[in-house]
Amino acid sequence: MSEKKIRIGFYALTSCYGCQLQFAMMDEILQLIPNAEIVCWYMLERDSKEVEPVDIAFIEGSVSTEEEVELVKEVREKSKIVVAVGACATQGGVQSWTDKPLDELWKTVYGDGKVKFQPRMAKPVEEYIKVDYRLYGCPPEKRDFLYAIGTFLVGSWPEDIDYPVCLECRLRGNTCVLIERGEPCLGPITRAGCDARCPAFNVACIGCRGAIGYDVAWFDSLAKTFKEKGYTKEEIIERMKIFNAHNPKLEEMVNKIFQEVKE
Ligand code: SF4
Ligand code: SF4
Ligand code: SF4
Repeated sequence: MSEKKIRIGFYALTSCYGCQLQFAMMDEILQLIPNAEIVCWYMLERDSKEVEPVDIAFIEGSVSTEEEVELVKEVREKSKIVVAVGACATQGGVQSWTDKPLDELWKTVYGDGKVKFQPRMAKPVEEYIKVDYRLYGCPPEKRDFLYAIGTFLVGSWPEDIDYPVCLECRLRGNTCVLIERGEPCLGPITRAGCDARCPAFNVACIGCRGAIGYDVAWFDSLAKTFKEKGYTKEEIIERMKIFNAHNPKLEEMVNKIFQEVKE
């Protein structure tokens, strides 16, 4: 007799489906088959008639319509563990990187066109429901998925990464594009886990894995460094907001640096 399989659902909100694609490209999924049953996977088949009860629900995308608010609430009700997957679900994604009001954005994209959904400003899933675990990145690394699923399957709980991209960058021996070239690298405030992929190619980090938690994302210190390198407050906030638009401390901490300088 086989043991009861763990039921997994993979849902998508407003997104590019890139996180699901990352998941789909993992050969290791085949190894899950003896232990897990994927009961819902929007990328393969979207049956919106019913959200089934699952043990683990992965949710990709930002909540950007009224219908998605209802969907995440229903998924929460019917799932034991809810995992927000990727920058869109955990931080709101690049689609929430704007100060413009919804009606102005709407007009720019759709004009007078009619659509079947009720739009909202894009927000992270956690703005509407309790999220139990987060997979960061745009998309998350394959090993992030494997680590989380594997840990859940053995009845344990995955740990969060609480150190910045700079640590992995230094370990790789990369040239520091911030110090050496004055580029606005967000490595110092961004959660590690990508093995400093962008600086390894001499590209400054744009922070896709989101700001480190535990109140140690020093937006202010980094803003001070950027300012010394000639960046304006607006340029700094715009860059830091690409993947951190909903971080409650970002603007206040950057503003503090510029206020201090004025006095
Ligand atoms: S986090 Fe990135 S890869 Fe995943 S759905 Fe959003 S935009 Fe696509
Ligand atoms: S290049 Fe960026 S991530 Fe690497 S050490 Fe410098 S600031 Fe940190
Ligand atoms: S270096 Fe930064 S932008 Fe590049 S993958 Fe890592 S967290 Fe994302």
